[in-house]
Amino acid sequence: MGSFNRMPGKSGRVMTCVRCGLIFYYTGTGDVICPNCREADREDFDRVKEYFCRNPKSNIAEIAEGTGVSMEATERFFRSGRIEMASDSNIFTRCERCHKEIPSGRFCTSCTNQLAGDIKQAFRADRLQGRGMYYRRREK
Ligand SMILES: [Zn+2]
Ligand SMILES: [Zn+2]
Repeated sequence: MGSFNRMPGKSGRVMTCVRCGLIFYYTGTGDVICPNCREADREDFDRVKEYFCRNPKSNIAEIAEGTGVSMEATERFFRSGRIEMASDSNIFTRCERCHKEIPSGRFCTSCTNQLAGDIKQAFRADRLQGRGMYYRRREK
């Protein structure tokens, strides 16, 4: 039984595995993957890479669907720069409102929420205006 060696010379941090949520002592670089997930993550990576080679015009959502790899992991592989993509690839589209990179769709989540709010507000303003136009004082 050896004692747990924290390797004081090495820089490391207690991190949470992005795949399974395990808290472990991370000393590497790049994606925070615990030792238990490393193999599965590599397999996912290979699948994504291969799929993307065959379908260079696909986006994150399509790759995730075609490979069975989660969108989160697929996105991570591309974000980390481990898979080369052409400048005209569709991997990341940009939000039409704030130009943040998003995996799919037209707007990022925060803009989607905001837009939904705007529409509701516009609707309300419309109704208020309408009410103003047709406002009749109710005599009591
Ligand atoms: Zn893990
Ligand atoms: Zn946005």
